[in-house]
Amino acid sequence: MDLFELVTARTVKDAIEAQSRSSTAQQGASVRFIAGGTNLVDYMKLNVERPTRLIDITALPLAAIEQTSDGGLKIGALARNTDVANDERVKTRYPVLSQAILAGASPQLRNMATTGGNLLQKTRCVYYRDTGAACNKRSPGSGCAAIGGHNRMLAILGTSEQCIATNPSDQNVALMALDAVVHVEGIKGTRAIPIADFYRVPGSTPQRETVLEPGDLITHVTLPAPTAGTRSIYLKLRDRASYEFALASAAILMKQGSGGGIDFVRVAMGGVGTKPWRSVEAEKSLLGKTPSAAHFQAAADAALRGAKPQSENGFKVELAKRCLVHAMGQTSQAV
Ligand code: SF4
Repeated sequence: MDLFELVTARTVKDAIEAQSRSSTAQQGASVRFIAGGTNLVDYMKLNVERPTRLIDITALPLAAIEQTSDGGLKIGALARNTDVANDERVKTRYPVLSQAILAGASPQLRNMATTGGNLLQKTRCVYYRDTGAACNKRSPGSGCAAIGGHNRMLAILGTSEQCIATNPSDQNVALMALDAVVHVEGIKGTRAIPIADFYRVPGSTPQRETVLEPGDLITHVTLPAPTAGTRSIYLKLRDRASYEFALASAAILMKQGSGGGIDFVRVAMGGVGTKPWRSVEAEKSLLGKTPSAAHFQAAADAALRGAKPQSENGFKVELAKRCLVHAMGQTSQAV
């Protein structure tokens, strides 16, 4: 690990200014905000991340979980994953989020990890973690050792010829299904970014994973008021029962109207996409339909229609479909 300067920020303004004052802030490569550190410190130990300056933001007043005036919820960027998952309002009104967070990592990690940090969680592609390997995400232009290499855990949706890395988060799949909004403060002011627009697919610039600009600080996330009568579930399939990343996961929200047809649905997937993956195609195929195994299968087929498996992860196509069908069945009153 390289030597680095540690700066403690006392206000959001201080944090943003400390970031922007850095001579290298324009590349955004050498300055990092640090909170729980569960991801960043890992990568600093591996020399994948080599910041010259860390801005400690843990003293900022951004840890609260509060009800909003429109019946939604505001979750501070520094709210610990454990606190979010165990918050009564989250457990009763947004259970899919609580389930997703508790399906990830270990209790010790969840005690440290924050909502904002989880939003920016880095891929676990083994070549990204190995500084001796070609990796366009870590070192743009160097190639991608995973294409044709070990790619069993990697993505089948949203990939490019430059990168096939999976977004590893569980939390973010639930936030995608919940239509969360990510609130950001930066040198250009404040922005509210719908999570559907927050992540980028790798394309030809896999090093850019979100629409954040250098100096942007995530301050909080908001969730809209839940739609009455909606049932939800987070289902995660993985190689072992705990402390493991998803091979495929599904976050489903579903509501049936008075006639029995589905009149509200959200379908999001983890473990298969280069970003937390929402399937508008699956949602469209379900709207107006009466819940049934056949309609769920058709929706799952629609969700995976664009899948591009690699040499070792073709099994994920069927696995993800089965994950979706099972989760949809769990949220439906009729199946
Ligand atoms: Fe790097 Fe992406 Fe290729 Fe993995 S899949 S080696 S992260 S470029």
